[in-house]
Amino acid sequence: MSKMEEIQRICLNRGIIYPTAEIYSIMSGFFDYGPVGTLLKRKLIDYWREFFVKSEDNIFEMDGCTVLPEKVFIASGHLKSFVDPITQCKKCKSIHRADDLIQEKTGMFVEGKPVNELSKIIKEKNVKCPNCGGELSDVRLFNLMLKTEISPVGGKPAYLRPETAQNIFTSFQRLLRVARSRLPFGVAQVGRSFRNEISPRHFVVRVREFNQMEIEMFIDPKHPKCLKFDEVKDKKITVFTREAQKKKKEPITITAEEAIKKKIVPNEWMVYFLVKEFEFYKSLGIPSDALRFRHMLPEETPHYSCGNFDLEIKFDFGWKETVGNAYRTDYDLKKHMKFSKKDLTVLTDDGRKIISHVMEPSFGIERTIAGILLHCFREGKDRGWSWFAFPSKIAPYHFAIFSLVNKDGLLEKAKEIYEILKKEFDVYFDFSGSIGRRYARADEIGTFGALTIDYQTLEDSTITLRERDTMKQIRVKISELSDVLKRFLKGEKLDALGKVI
Ligand code: AMP
Repeated sequence: MSKMEEIQRICLNRGIIYPTAEIYSIMSGFFDYGPVGTLLKRKLIDYWREFFVKSEDNIFEMDGCTVLPEKVFIASGHLKSFVDPITQCKKCKSIHRADDLIQEKTGMFVEGKPVNELSKIIKEKNVKCPNCGGELSDVRLFNLMLKTEISPVGGKPAYLRPETAQNIFTSFQRLLRVARSRLPFGVAQVGRSFRNEISPRHFVVRVREFNQMEIEMFIDPKHPKCLKFDEVKDKKITVFTREAQKKKKEPITITAEEAIKKKIVPNEWMVYFLVKEFEFYKSLGIPSDALRFRHMLPEETPHYSCGNFDLEIKFDFGWKETVGNAYRTDYDLKKHMKFSKKDLTVLTDDGRKIISHVMEPSFGIERTIAGILLHCFREGKDRGWSWFAFPSKIAPYHFAIFSLVNKDGLLEKAKEIYEILKKEFDVYFDFSGSIGRRYARADEIGTFGALTIDYQTLEDSTITLRERDTMKQIRVKISELSDVLKRFLKGEKLDALGKVI
């Protein structure tokens, strides 16, 4: 069993993330979040908002609908070109994504190649159906958008949005006013997107309904200066350049300043986001050697883009894009201006009327969660159970509260402490099973620490605090508990907070 499969098994067992409507036949590519998964996801979103939105003065939030009229996607080009190549087995009729299948079977990277070329490769390399070994059909294109109709009879065609971005472009005029009509400004949105993926796989890495956290940063292309560039200029990122990909070399590590000077990244805004993303993912427990920015090759890059950099995470099945960074230029606003016949221009400080350019970092929540689950997973051979080393800011629960035994007043005392702490921390109370089993359960869902009320508590008003990562314990006075726990969550070491017992 691969590590990811083992993690998926734990997620099912502990009700963290599991298939949607699973009491009926499983609908592949859809997952529900249970109690622990919901907390993890919510905390990830909150942390992202702190990191990317609230820390900036000129980034605002919006929350748009998921159903959008067909016209939006005619304008954006999705109706015509949001497609993947598919091939069907002539024998068992199963459908496969052609580029993925070719890559799997031959190792060739063929994303973005035209269908006739893919059909040719399938024939020449003798690629067969992975299910039954049957012959595969010619490759054709399949639109990934999920269609619906608005109004009960003779409905108008509409689609579930395949990315959150389009709501931002269609609201541009109003959002510009909120931003006092001045560039640069950004709009952030967290919400659901839908793609009718041909072969959902790798747990939540490729699903059909997922959540995105996106920013559209509107800038003047003549003045692409990022005001906070100086804050990041000496910070390093790992870039898998086009040259390195072509020559099969290793990615390079460079500072933000070098990336601009050497023209590796198109502008300061892009590299500003790349640096922040690198820091963000490291702080989520993903090591830097499992992170890289891949400069998309020309054949994969949309024709209107001035450069796309995918933040990729190393999974056990290979590297996978988790944040798409795209310099979308004025493409979307220009298209919406043409199709809606509305004025989406903006007046620059020096009096030019322009169509704003857009820099877009687009984060996938499910892929981020999959990356966190994988890289925070500890097999725990020493302790006898596996566990998740989630950083405190995203740990679903900060603390578990236990009474050593459920008699002699300990249960009541533990409940009393639980009632006090739940006002300040994310805590849960567990009084069933042996204390060892309760520690195991807490570790398995990545609870940051555990507090145990025992006989000594009744004598000297202290309780034990157990650190998940080291299993070390200290005794803390109840009167100082709140302060100590806050410092502990902020990263102070256990032995700095008390005497390890
Ligand atoms: P894209 O617009 O294709 O660059 O997607 C932006 C981000 O959304 C990706 O980097 C992924 O993290 C996420 N994403 C896209 N498609 C899926 C999918 N089918 N399942 C899960 N996440 C996805």
